[in-house]
Amino acid sequence: MDDTAETVVSTASASESTAIDTVAFHVESLPQPTVQSVTRKKNNKAQKTKIVDELGEDEPLVDTTTAIPKNSKKTRRLQRQQKKKEAKSSEKVQNFLQLPGELLMEILGHLRPSDVFQLSRLNKATREFIEDYEVSIANDIIEQRYWVLRRCFVLPRLLADVDSRSQAALFHPRREKMIEIHKKPYQHVRPPDNRIFCTCASCMMAWNNLNVALDLSHFQGHLDRREPIPMIPRGTQSDWNPALIEAHANVVEKAVTSPLIYASILEKHLETITGTLLRQTRRPPQPKAPMHRHNKPMLAVSSAMQSPPATMLYGIVEADAAAGDDRFLERPGKESYEFPWHRDNYYNLLAYVPMRKWSKLEQRWMYYAAGAHERDLEWARKWFLPAAPTSSGG
Ligand SMILES: [Zn+2]
Repeated sequence: MDDTAETVVSTASASESTAIDTVAFHVESLPQPTVQSVTRKKNNKAQKTKIVDELGEDEPLVDTTTAIPKNSKKTRRLQRQQKKKEAKSSEKVQNFLQLPGELLMEILGHLRPSDVFQLSRLNKATREFIEDYEVSIANDIIEQRYWVLRRCFVLPRLLADVDSRSQAALFHPRREKMIEIHKKPYQHVRPPDNRIFCTCASCMMAWNNLNVALDLSHFQGHLDRREPIPMIPRGTQSDWNPALIEAHANVVEKAVTSPLIYASILEKHLETITGTLLRQTRRPPQPKAPMHRHNKPMLAVSSAMQSPPATMLYGIVEADAAAGDDRFLERPGKESYEFPWHRDNYYNLLAYVPMRKWSKLEQRWMYYAAGAHERDLEWARKWFLPAAPTSSGG
């Protein structure tokens, strides 16, 4: 092989050498394909030479280039071109976006939502890639990590997606009046905007559950440090509370159209659950510090043992928390029928996993949020609207 020639080679293996230069090279003598991938090792030692066409198929070496004398005009021009391309390609290699798209999505789909958000701050190109493929990345993450929680914390539906007849039922004066009686705003959840969201019973519950997940997550530091959650006496207002519940409502509103934001709410809630269940083994209270009543019997057991006691709800161990998924929540545990209607409830809440019940017969959890919105709308139409003209029931 002619060392002086700008030999047409392929990057047989990138790991083979640290100094591999790749340049796109137009080979006139080859009729097809016209654009060739040209790679040359800097030290010109043991050059592996072959032609790689655009499809990436390997072909036997056909060295049809003629030797170019050193210091010729053409050589200098090629060297200049190559330097330019080198600078460009080394820039690209540093960017992980150069990985094949499918591989990149596979990697991102295995991360936690918070990691993906952090990664999106890396640079503009990364952010754009994540934005472009957000749905598929988020769905992969949710499917792998939040199999249980996504069935328990469903998203409220947009009013725009509710048919006009059902909307008429939702805003029927008789229904508005009926709701008014039950309307007692929670201190820790801002009500949804009824011009944006469906206000059927299921969607209201979905809204409240997601907001409570964020509020509960916000106060985990207090609970970890065994500090009381700041209370707002009834009938009074605080400076911080309206801003806090507004911020949570904004996140939930965004989650409806951003699956990655939705995934990050589930991530936060999973952290709340694992942190709460493992709190007593992670942070045993100081000898004279006030201790929560549900910790007392557990602590007596755990102090004598190295590993967490077997009586932990869902049989959770540190490894379950480290896995960063909600698989452990499929084990037998406790049903969460009661909505934490006040922050006072946070002290006793071990794991809030609503919208499911344990089937003793089948020995598994039954999830019932799916289809609830449709059933509620059907009920509202039946109750508040005259029968549709097409209906034969009259
Ligand atoms: Zn609804």
